[in-house]
Amino acid sequence: MQQNTTHLSFQDLNLNTPLYNALEDLGFTTPTPIQDQAFNIVASGRDVVGIAQTGTGKTFAYMLPILKHLKYSKQENPRVLILVPTRELVVQVVDEIKKLSKYINNRVLGVYGGTNINTQKQAIAEGLDILVATPGRLYDLALSRVLQLKSIQKLVIDEVDVMLDLGFRHQLINIFDLLPERRQNIMFSATMTQDVDVLITDFFRNPERISIAVSGTPLENISQQRFEVPNFYTKVNLLVHLLRDTEHYHRVLIFVAYKRMADRLFDQLDVFFKEELCVIHSNKTQNYRLRSIEQFKEGVNRILIATDVMARGLDIDNVSHVINFDTPEYPENYMHRIGRTGRAERKGEALVFSTQKEAEAINGIEELMHMEIPVMALPEVVEISTELIEEERPQIKERNNPTKRRDEDAPGPAFHEKKEKNQKENLGGSYRREIAKKYKKPKTKGDKNYNKRNKRK
Ligand code: AMP
Repeated sequence: MQQNTTHLSFQDLNLNTPLYNALEDLGFTTPTPIQDQAFNIVASGRDVVGIAQTGTGKTFAYMLPILKHLKYSKQENPRVLILVPTRELVVQVVDEIKKLSKYINNRVLGVYGGTNINTQKQAIAEGLDILVATPGRLYDLALSRVLQLKSIQKLVIDEVDVMLDLGFRHQLINIFDLLPERRQNIMFSATMTQDVDVLITDFFRNPERISIAVSGTPLENISQQRFEVPNFYTKVNLLVHLLRDTEHYHRVLIFVAYKRMADRLFDQLDVFFKEELCVIHSNKTQNYRLRSIEQFKEGVNRILIATDVMARGLDIDNVSHVINFDTPEYPENYMHRIGRTGRAERKGEALVFSTQKEAEAINGIEELMHMEIPVMALPEVVEISTELIEEERPQIKERNNPTKRRDEDAPGPAFHEKKEKNQKENLGGSYRREIAKKYKKPKTKGDKNYNKRNKRK
């Protein structure tokens, strides 16, 4: 991790006159912390991984050093490639680069799917220096041979967490294959996730990591509690028990690490809290996600299940409880999660459920905070389940098989709104609802025989 050498003004970064003039026109005088930290490392040509959210000035953090060192050229093929997950971000990044390039003679182009590819081919054929693109369209253009990627010297991947969450991993890898091996890789991500980690390990050379330190000091008005719980189904039982207190748990944000877990938990809770429940993750359409957030904000729905990546952009006030249904592997994610409650000096409560497997992650979190999270006894009425989900069963591990496609990689139906009739969840008939009414343990879809077999041992 790069040590912080604080630059008080842009003058300290040793830029050049065209950049200073552009910054002056924008009225920017001081580098933001991520710009400050990233400048020398990006300028050095090393691979870089930056952890920074939108709004921190991350676009200029990579563009300032890139533009400072990008020499004027008449060559047609682009030298800088910036990949972003959405067309909105293509437009935004192009706009930012243009502002910064006001006094520089360079050619910037943005391309994304859903629009006429031929117009984009024509624009590429005219020659360019910096290309901003979504991965799918970029790959199509590269395959059509209009776009030559052999001159790329710098690859920037922005919002890589969202990109991987949307299922772009394979497209990214296909693109890497078309790029020259000698290049600088620069990556920015708001969240550290396992998928991001894997991508860095597989494709980056000894990257320098930078991040604006997440404060390890939780707000004083957030109380924290931890429950030690043996497995998924016991976590569900505990959660159902707690959530029945509708007055106390009046606006609850539940975090899970990945989307399959979000769906699985949704199915379990849906039996009990159907009308009060919503979920957001990247396999849900944008419309569905917006609706869920709106309903949660307005108090129509009391409970929102979210993944770390999708919750990052949320601005929701007055959350009474943040429940970490799983223990985040990266302590910073825990800080971000619990920071969703206790806002505007209101009191907030954060709970974390941890299994034995997650004990190490708890240690990391407690180290970052310099405090221990008090452990609560499981309420007696909470049934301890012996049933295990697939991931909890002993597994024969297939190590590091990069060609194997993981479930999490599968692109979801995210950008196609389903027809209304297809959006309904199949609850498995009235039987499950009957059971729910009696407030018994949720009927689950696990392999019952597996559990029976193991009980007998
Ligand atoms: P970003 O995180 O790149 O999306 O940037 C967020 C916003 O901050 C953009 O509108 C930038 O134009 C603006 N910005 C970037 N750098 C600075 C700076 N040093 N001072 C003030 N505003 C900035």
